[in-house]
Amino acid sequence: MSVTSQTDERSDHTSGEPKTITVLGAGVAGLVAAYELERRGHRVRILEGSNRIGGRVHTYRFGSAKGAQFAELGAMRIPISHTRALHYIAKLGLLNQVREFRTILSDDDDLLRVKDGGYVRVRDAPKALVSALDPGLTEHGYRYNTLLFGSWLNACLNAVAPAQFRDHPNVNADLLDLVDRIDLEPYLCGDSGSKVDLHSVFADHPYLRSVCSGRHERFLDDVLMETSNAIFRLRHGTDALTDGLAAKIRGPLLLGHEVVGLSVRDDGVVVGVRHGGMTSSWHCDYVLCTIPFPVLRRLRLDGFDDDKLSVIHETQYWPATKIAFHCREAFWTADGITGGASFTGGLVRQTYYPPVEGDRSLGAVLLASYTIGPDAEKISKLDPVTRHEVIVTEVSRMHPRLREPGMILATVSQVWGEHRWSRGAATIRWTQDAATCEEQRQAAARPQDRLFFAGEHCSSKPAWIEGAIESAIDAVHSIQWHEPFSGRRSAQRLRRVV
Ligand SMILES: Cc1cc2nc3c(=O)[nH]c(=O)nc-3n(C[C@H](O)[C@H](O)[C@H](O)COP(=O)(O)OP(=O)(O)OC[C@H]3O[C@@H](n4cnc5c(N)ncnc54)[C@H](O)[C@@H]3O)c2cc1C
Repeated sequence: MSVTSQTDERSDHTSGEPKTITVLGAGVAGLVAAYELERRGHRVRILEGSNRIGGRVHTYRFGSAKGAQFAELGAMRIPISHTRALHYIAKLGLLNQVREFRTILSDDDDLLRVKDGGYVRVRDAPKALVSALDPGLTEHGYRYNTLLFGSWLNACLNAVAPAQFRDHPNVNADLLDLVDRIDLEPYLCGDSGSKVDLHSVFADHPYLRSVCSGRHERFLDDVLMETSNAIFRLRHGTDALTDGLAAKIRGPLLLGHEVVGLSVRDDGVVVGVRHGGMTSSWHCDYVLCTIPFPVLRRLRLDGFDDDKLSVIHETQYWPATKIAFHCREAFWTADGITGGASFTGGLVRQTYYPPVEGDRSLGAVLLASYTIGPDAEKISKLDPVTRHEVIVTEVSRMHPRLREPGMILATVSQVWGEHRWSRGAATIRWTQDAATCEEQRQAAARPQDRLFFAGEHCSSKPAWIEGAIESAIDAVHSIQWHEPFSGRRSAQRLRRVV
């Protein structure tokens, strides 16, 4: 794989004196920033509230045995186009761990819930999907491949989209009129051409986006990305990336140090830190805060301007849930399924079949349910016992063997909307236009004197590792070139002096 990097390598030297920076949060953004700041000669320490590094990269292992099976409760795949993420994977020597990520409906034997509540295999899906299209479209006289395109676009949006996007018609006559002029034969894939490679169709014919409605156009990017075959995973878990970064950082990485308040002063930032039941104030020259805004807005914040407080309070995060079963064996392979994910529908939404790496006697993992948005809210309201029962009931309609005694060895679930250290899964700006997204990004990233900000919420690629890295690199440059008297308060002070 050839890896190109967008990471700025020009500044291996420091502008002026080395600075001392306290980084808040040991997720991807905090770790990348700390690594890059040290590389530029600065001194760094990291304060992490939880007892784990990685943040929303959370590879959960079922047991401590070498090669224990694991579930990705946070990030699980990286699009090949995310060159910043690839840059660090290469830099950490992890390219040999890169494997294809088999996504939802990628296996011809994956299952797909159809209108009548039953399931069909992906290879058999076209008939059911085409017949579910609006009759106005099916009777219009479009070519069969055009209808197939519309059907798969509908199916993918339905499988990936949160509830509010499913209520609107996804495929319209304007879109199919344009698609009908394209020879789709080269884009057919799967068993005997039962599927259409939507990602490539849109990549080769970008004008098709002009007839997707505004809401869907913005959402479409993520859907096409998530359902494309141009994404990968790390064989031994996504935490290889965060562990690898942490191992390269020389400064102290202090776990269990919870930030409880931030006070911006002329000469730095005072950070309230709770550790071991005691709270103390730490005076810091420079601070880089990667704490997700839903957590930050609950802290005591002093010396922030009103616009900054508004964006901290108003940035919306979406919830997500993941529920995984450690199973005695990969029973789904007996059904012919070798990977990918089924669209289960119901409360479960998506069911992934991660590959079994290593020792098969250590069982296999089924990511039984992955939900976002209102679907995640519904699941999070169930108590853990009911939640488990609901998921088992729904998944076992597709896979009755799940109910065999002893099949489920353990369960793990992560409700990100209620997670103490993020209180949400990610910033999602699908409902905003491009200009508003960029305005909000800039407001989120804007520093307060010597208090800087990074994290996926400060990036142009929210909800991706790539975004967390992008924001970290931007913040590193701002800190690198910051002059002590260039801040807002300092400017006011200079004006007063003059
Ligand atoms: C369910 C789910 C699936 C995802 N799937 C993908 C995917 O497949 N691919 C992809 O690229 N991205 C995915 N993402 C997004 C990706 O995980 C995030 O964009 C990225 O990890 C965010 O990194 P961050 O550093 O901005 O934030 P975080 O990882 O949240 O880091 C913030 C850190 O701050 C710490 N912290 C919080 N409060 C305090 C406090 N008061 N004091 C001290 N420390 C504190 C937290 O513990 C955490 O370690 C997914 C996210 C979720 C939730």
